[in-house]
Amino acid sequence: MTVGIAVALSACGSSAKKTGDVDSVNPFFTEYTTPYEVPPFEQIKQEHYKPAFLKGMEEQVREIEQIINQKEEPTFENTIVAIDQSGALYKKVAIVFGGQNSVNTNDEMQALSRELSPLQSKHSDDITLNPQLFARVKAIYNMREKLGLNKEQTKLLDETYKSFVRGGANLNKEGQAKLRELNSEISMLQLTFGQNMLKETNNFKLVVDKEEDLAGLSESLIASGALIAKANNMEGKWVFTLHNPSVMPFLQYAENRALREKIFNGYINRGDNGNEADNKEVVRKLITLRLEKAKLMGYSDYASFVLEERMAKNEETVYKLLDELWVPTLEKAKEELEDIKTEIKKDGGNFEPEGWDWRYYFEKAKKAKFDLDENEVRPYLKLENVYEGMFYVANRLYGITFTPIKEIPLPHPDAVAFECKDKDGTHLGVLYMDFFPRESKRGGAWCGTYRSQTYKDGKRVSPVVTIVCNFTPPAEGQPALLSADEANTMFHEFGHALHNLFKDVHYYGVSGVPRDFVELPSQIMEHWVFEPEVLKVYAKHYQTGEVIPVELIEKLDKSGKYGQGFATAEYLAASYLDMDYHVMKDISADLNVMDFEAQTLGKRGLLKQIPSRYRTTYFNHTMGGGYTAGYYSYIWSEVLDCDAFQAFKETGDIFNQDVAAKFRQYVLTPGGIDDASVMYVNFRGKEPNTEALLENRGLK
Ligand SMILES: [Zn+2]
Repeated sequence: MTVGIAVALSACGSSAKKTGDVDSVNPFFTEYTTPYEVPPFEQIKQEHYKPAFLKGMEEQVREIEQIINQKEEPTFENTIVAIDQSGALYKKVAIVFGGQNSVNTNDEMQALSRELSPLQSKHSDDITLNPQLFARVKAIYNMREKLGLNKEQTKLLDETYKSFVRGGANLNKEGQAKLRELNSEISMLQLTFGQNMLKETNNFKLVVDKEEDLAGLSESLIASGALIAKANNMEGKWVFTLHNPSVMPFLQYAENRALREKIFNGYINRGDNGNEADNKEVVRKLITLRLEKAKLMGYSDYASFVLEERMAKNEETVYKLLDELWVPTLEKAKEELEDIKTEIKKDGGNFEPEGWDWRYYFEKAKKAKFDLDENEVRPYLKLENVYEGMFYVANRLYGITFTPIKEIPLPHPDAVAFECKDKDGTHLGVLYMDFFPRESKRGGAWCGTYRSQTYKDGKRVSPVVTIVCNFTPPAEGQPALLSADEANTMFHEFGHALHNLFKDVHYYGVSGVPRDFVELPSQIMEHWVFEPEVLKVYAKHYQTGEVIPVELIEKLDKSGKYGQGFATAEYLAASYLDMDYHVMKDISADLNVMDFEAQTLGKRGLLKQIPSRYRTTYFNHTMGGGYTAGYYSYIWSEVLDCDAFQAFKETGDIFNQDVAAKFRQYVLTPGGIDDASVMYVNFRGKEPNTEALLENRGLK
């Protein structure tokens, strides 16, 4: 009956403001009764979020008051664990809202996140800056040696104490007031940045109305261009967008140079168009406030404040790695540029290559050198085959299995669900996958959770994990055929998923790993995608069932390293940009961020044809907040994953069971209980070095 009421109310849309009635059926206020207790997505309506958020915060405030007001002396259980367990409802709604706002967003959700942002920021400050609460935490921290805590508990205590200190607990009253203001403004600016970016990505459409302008494009890209046109009421035309599966192949294959230029400029100018979604001023304010916050906290710049918590520890280590890779990368990129010039000449062109020429002529150079057309590979990479292949790898390594679940609520109707079981058949968790772009989904690919692993009353609570991608959608009447890159991405995100599924921690406060370690579990999976032994299992032609020919595997292998000059250069450029913005010790009020970008990349000699992988005004990793002073993390982790994969290679067996067991035990299971460098050495028996990475990228 209650479900019926919920549906009826939601059908009235936003005019149904009978909060009392809505509350009584708000799915966040009861235990989920769905299979595996996943969120009941179909029952969750827009109007459920806000009351659940508000009540969740209220409850946590009361729980914190109880911790402070209790008569008992502070103990680990009654204070540290109590803080860790507080805010259950708040966490429950926030994790669903966060996930849904990324894959299923709309104006209402975005407005709500803007409305909530300052409240959430205040709420978290109210906890961290509560002097009585901090006094209890400090008292326990000061007697930590005498408490007889185990390793995980000790880590939770350390992390809790540190989060108070880093959250401003030691500042004076004035300082704390200032910090609150800064936190609130910073989170609002980060949010605005991301929302502007989504708008700008959706704003641009390249409309083609003459068939001859499609020359060079693959059938599937043309078909998807026609589909997008149809969806936009432009039947009979073709529309290409700034979503990666559209813009990237267009730049790779479109013979029409003027159209390439147009879409390229659309892509690199997102957020820099002087309209209401312009991000330049957002960025200037944001980096200024971050610097101010760092100084308030006693650091000379924002990067030092952030890096203290990372495996890298400080700026010098980060720049040292980037610089070490930059020189050989630039040389490689210059070699590739020469090849591109050769191709332009062969094509009868007489012009200097520009940014919109790189991908197009690089593709031709690759074809000339290796006789490999990327599209030749796609028929062997049918989406379903690729994920079966990745399940196969996980099964060979860890003995785990994935079985489709039919009757279960989905985060979006396009998603699919699987149950993951351990070797002995015990349930490990639920895995969702959601593959194709849509306007309500943000770009890129990621892995998230709708519930993270924890324990409740001594029982393991299993995680609900989701992989979200923006792959090339299938053309009408065809299966989805992935590019080599997309297959790689799928394995990558699956690595994050395994990390979430295997994790075994008792406290929220120790469930995360440092940003520059988190890509180790994901990136290591990329090493298996194109191993001949694995390809044989899954890379089968979608029509004939024929296994990918050995010659094609060889071509793939040889050509795999080709193009690393460009790929590494655009990546390192973004990493420098992110660092350079956050090591500034002084930011002028009239800083022009686009000039800054040009200077910072120009002085390092980046080729004019290669823009930073993300330019300032659409660099959501750093400006959105997730990877601030942290975009370097991918290559930092890559040093680790290349070195770690060597551990398998050295045994002569990429499925070596001892190595796999160690990787699971020491890297994938402990969450943040152990320090990142300790975890790595536990697994490998020694420190990593950059040899395997340079080799792997063909930079040596
Ligand atoms: Zn990742």
